[in-house]
Amino acid sequence: MSVDFYYLEELLTEEQRLIRTTVRHFVDEDVLPIITDAFEAGCFPTELIPKIAKLGLLGATLTEYGGAGIDSISYGLAMQELERGDTAIRSFCSVQNGLVIYPIATFGSKEQKDYWLPKLIRGEAVGCFGLTEPEHGSDPSALKTRAERDGDSFVLNGTKAWITNATIADLAIVWAKLDGVIRGFLVEKGTPGFSAVKIEHKMSARASDTGELYLHNCRIPQENMLPGAEGLKAPLMCINQGRYAIAWGAVGAAMACYEEVVEYTKQRVQFDKPVASFQLVQEKLADMLTEITKAQLLCLRLGQLREAGRVKPAQISLAKRNNVAMALQVARMARELLGANGITLDYHTIRHMLNLESVYTLEGTHHIQTLILGQEITGISAFK
Ligand SMILES: Cc1cc2nc3c(=O)[nH]c(=O)nc-3n(C[C@H](O)[C@H](O)[C@H](O)COP(=O)(O)OP(=O)(O)OC[C@H]3O[C@@H](n4cnc5c(N)ncnc54)[C@H](O)[C@@H]3O)c2cc1C
Repeated sequence: MSVDFYYLEELLTEEQRLIRTTVRHFVDEDVLPIITDAFEAGCFPTELIPKIAKLGLLGATLTEYGGAGIDSISYGLAMQELERGDTAIRSFCSVQNGLVIYPIATFGSKEQKDYWLPKLIRGEAVGCFGLTEPEHGSDPSALKTRAERDGDSFVLNGTKAWITNATIADLAIVWAKLDGVIRGFLVEKGTPGFSAVKIEHKMSARASDTGELYLHNCRIPQENMLPGAEGLKAPLMCINQGRYAIAWGAVGAAMACYEEVVEYTKQRVQFDKPVASFQLVQEKLADMLTEITKAQLLCLRLGQLREAGRVKPAQISLAKRNNVAMALQVARMARELLGANGITLDYHTIRHMLNLESVYTLEGTHHIQTLILGQEITGISAFK
């Protein structure tokens, strides 16, 4: 690990180290040289998809259907390294894994699994996850998208907003109410009545593809419903997969900012001295290293619990809440120490800082993670 103050490297297996190092090289060689342009252009670099698939990062923890079958800590380390590059790359992967491959593998029929999983794992098909709506974000139980049975089809109507991978996706998992109960539906690109439109003018996660999904009398065959997903619990189980990836990814973004600013402050001279020699600057560097180290320890233990099948959703929420807030704080401190240079894309920090504003909000906002923890502690729900 590049930032590894407590020698956590020693606690990793050889395979975990190898996966971390391989993804790290991929980010250095293939992501960092192009990511600033992608961020400025506001486009996801789709040319990376075959490489990400070849690295075994899609369906990474699955052992069937061509998945690499890696353990939870290896998966977390991979997400950390991807987000050290950019949130968009980690997001692409964690949506494809936790929000598309996972629900099909967990709730899908044999036919759905046989048809979609190999394609999604090989990167030949991209998926997206449509839960959020323009009027319903933190409270998805109130979603308005409807499915109605009509002969041997379902007819879907509604709008989804803020959907990662929306316009590059071949498949959307759309969560809609059928007879008042939330169910998951597989909607293929090109289905009449279905369209995806990119959300423009984002100032965060710019290299990520984010869009709206429109369903207008969209007719799909009845075998496109996920048979095992019934009620809000199903999409929330998917979101927990995403939160796990974010908990690790945020650490990667923080590590990138920290490394950049340590180098910068050692070289930047003011008042005839490197700015790194000033106590106020050193205090910030010490705070950054401390918080990153604590978050790394949290991730490692979270990974062990997940691997042992013992992790509770609230434990994932604690890590998502802490690590994203930590990374945002680290990015802001690094931005400050970079001075005016910190506001340009010549340095990575501002890109991470802006991206982290999205990560703070998505897959359950900081407030929502707080309420999940509050409920876990007290047994009392404060959601309503
Ligand atoms: C870049 C990006 C990508 C995304 N990708 C996806 C995706 O792939 N699929 C998908 O379905 N969604 C996606 N989302 C949507 C994301 O999950 C929602 O934005 C998030 O759940 C918050 O919903 P909202 O934006 O509607 O905010 P709101 O729910 O309207 O919240 C507004 C504010 O009110 C606060 N608030 C709400 N309720 C409470 C409460 N009970 N107590 C205290 N505070 C509260 C919130 O914390 C927030 O600060 C994405 C979002 C972004 C920004």
